[in-house]
Amino acid sequence: MKVFRTEGARDAAYKEAEKLSSTFGVNHQKLSSSELKVMEPSIRADLTGGLRWTDPWSIHDPHSLNKAYLIYFQSLGGRLVSGDAATLEHILEGAGWRVATPEGPLEAKEVVVALGPWADTVTKKLGYRFPLAVKRGYHMHYGMEEGAQLNNWVLDAEKGYFLAPMLRGIRLTTGAEFANRDAPKTPVQLTRAERVAREFFPLAERRDEEPWMGARPCTPDMMPIIGKAPRHEGLWFAFGHAHHGMTLGPVTGRALAEKNDRRKDRDRYQAVPA
Ligand SMILES: Cc1cc2nc3c(=O)[nH]c(=O)nc-3n(C[C@H](O)[C@H](O)[C@H](O)COP(=O)(O)OP(=O)(O)OC[C@H]3O[C@@H](n4cnc5c(N)ncnc54)[C@H](O)[C@@H]3O)c2cc1C
Repeated sequence: MKVFRTEGARDAAYKEAEKLSSTFGVNHQKLSSSELKVMEPSIRADLTGGLRWTDPWSIHDPHSLNKAYLIYFQSLGGRLVSGDAATLEHILEGAGWRVATPEGPLEAKEVVVALGPWADTVTKKLGYRFPLAVKRGYHMHYGMEEGAQLNNWVLDAEKGYFLAPMLRGIRLTTGAEFANRDAPKTPVQLTRAERVAREFFPLAERRDEEPWMGARPCTPDMMPIIGKAPRHEGLWFAFGHAHHGMTLGPVTGRALAEKNDRRKDRDRYQAVPA
């Protein structure tokens, strides 16, 4: 849900929402300031209204979701082995690709580079150059003052930070920071956003030892790089999902698997003599 401090920002967002709804069929709800007070009684800021997207789901514990994906993968017969992707090599003998793992070298006929911001660890060595940079972001979890509640994730749209009720507490997420992927953390935005957020909502103690930092892997047109590598058999790309990798990762995985199945079907049919 986006909330607005001025009528101008609210009306511009409502107009955009109408356009998105008629183009893509996504549903929303416009909330007056009094409706907002009923829905989010603990918000203390003076707001002109809210815009609530009613279709999306939200995740309260991303780590558990990832663990659930893993359990599902294993139930289908998959096996998780951790290795260093930087050791990936294209081999002429054997399956075609080899990577080093603590359990010894692992070979495969097909490999998918799904290394997010670290994709160049593999692609550069193989001679591919992608214009991939990162937008970094920070978050911190907080307790709430006694009796407070936050029922929706809330974007304080004109101030540029986000509050979300997570299992670990209220998560404050900052906007984007343009910096090198491996540069030291500079959580200045978090300190500034926290000051505004504390006036907006009764946040209590910080719950993490230090701010978490993540890097969103972005291309110039913000479109991910998905598909078969043009110069290597059995190599697939799946990275650059920018702000939406959590949501789109599973979709990309499925798209790649289906594409590979279609390719295998085509090869099988071509192998049948006429
Ligand atoms: C602050 C913030 C908020 C976000 N909010 C959202 C959101 O609300 N919704 C949404 O959909 N997306 C969100 N995203 C974006 C999303 O997190 C990313 O797009 C997503 O994580 C990308 O997924 P990925 O699997 O491609 O890469 P990653 O999740 O970055 O995974 C890459 C993996 O590669 C591993 N790795 C790196 N080097 C090696 C190596 N040499 N060998 C082996 N493994 C290696 C890393 O440890 C990592 O686990 C957010 C991102 C940030 C930073």
